[in-house]
Amino acid sequence: MGEEEQQVGWAFETLAIHAGQEPDAGTGAVVPPISLATTFAQREVGVHQGYEYSRSGNPTRTAMEEQIAALEAARHGLAFASGLAAEDNVIRLLEQGRRILLGNDAYGGTFRLIAKVWSPMGYPWTAVDLGDLDAVVAGWPEDTGMVWLETPTNPLLTCFDIEAIAEIAHERGALVVVDNTFATPYLQQPVTLGADIVVHSATKYLGGHSDVVGGFLAVDDDTIADRLRFTQNAAGAVPSPFDCYLVMRGAKTLGVRMDRHSENARAIVDLLIEHPAVDRVLYPQLPDHPGHAAAARQMRDYGGMVSFTVAGGEEAARRIAASTELFTLAESLGAVESLIEHPGAMTHASAAGSPLEVPDNLIRLSVGIEHASDLVADLAQALERA
Ligand SMILES: *Cc1c(COP(=O)(O)O)cnc(C)c1O
Repeated sequence: MGEEEQQVGWAFETLAIHAGQEPDAGTGAVVPPISLATTFAQREVGVHQGYEYSRSGNPTRTAMEEQIAALEAARHGLAFASGLAAEDNVIRLLEQGRRILLGNDAYGGTFRLIAKVWSPMGYPWTAVDLGDLDAVVAGWPEDTGMVWLETPTNPLLTCFDIEAIAEIAHERGALVVVDNTFATPYLQQPVTLGADIVVHSATKYLGGHSDVVGGFLAVDDDTIADRLRFTQNAAGAVPSPFDCYLVMRGAKTLGVRMDRHSENARAIVDLLIEHPAVDRVLYPQLPDHPGHAAAARQMRDYGGMVSFTVAGGEEAARRIAASTELFTLAESLGAVESLIEHPGAMTHASAAGSPLEVPDNLIRLSVGIEHASDLVADLAQALERA
């Protein structure tokens, strides 16, 4: 269908529903079939219709990879069994001895993968404050091969200037990896700002319904994409066709969900800002929030994640986290239902004692798409327990 030409100019919402989703050639089915076959018939030795063996390539996975890559405004997309499997694949691009500069607030599992799995194998890393670019330039280690950042970060929601960081890194020969899990491509497209590789935990907003674990890489550069595709197949951490279908289905509604997540998050922020039990509210839209200016430039809206510190300390934070009814006390984020958690003891426990340790009076909310007034009422009653 001259697919690439047609997609040029399509808006995000249209791409979400149509990119990679052509009706099935054999049956006309308007939803790509879940292709469970592990192997594909060849007419002659080596002559096939683009698929040989499902680890190397699968039609359902291709449909999902084309869809999410289009959403990220990237030419290539690669799906993985989890966000961490995708991240692991990225680090395999580095030569041994090359350093990873990691933003000093990041998902605990990313920290663990870099500091506890790759570092002992000879891949050094340094935590840096990417909000102070003069210091980053002044302290730039010669052996840096990759700058790895989240924006907004997990769990402090700090935002960084992707364009400025990409410029500094590229001048010094380093790749820029942006974990876009919190923002999603609807709110921010790092490739258009100079990032080389965009990482996703598709488990979160892309899937959006807390029912699939998945990972994704979006890349514009052909050479980098080829190397990642080689490792995707060679190391084999691929998702199942059913998981690909779930992510693809979830991503079709990403735009409308993110609009509602952002709107509900604002209602929650309004409650927290005024509340005496709350010490500090962390949300990128707030004018005094770290990186607000960068967020305002590079994001369409501010998303569904809200964090706050509790005036009464760790015990009060733990009581609040255990006192909500609608907000489920659970790890993870980015789905239709609202979640509450205590990062210090849950998602970020592995960062304790490191430069990425989080405050013990911190609470993180993944604000869902229920009615805002029910969410506000639930959190308000829980804050009374502080
Ligand atoms: C959850 C998460 C990951 C890891 O993804 P998994 O799918 O759990 O492996 C990576 N980065 C961020 C920001 C996350 O929230």
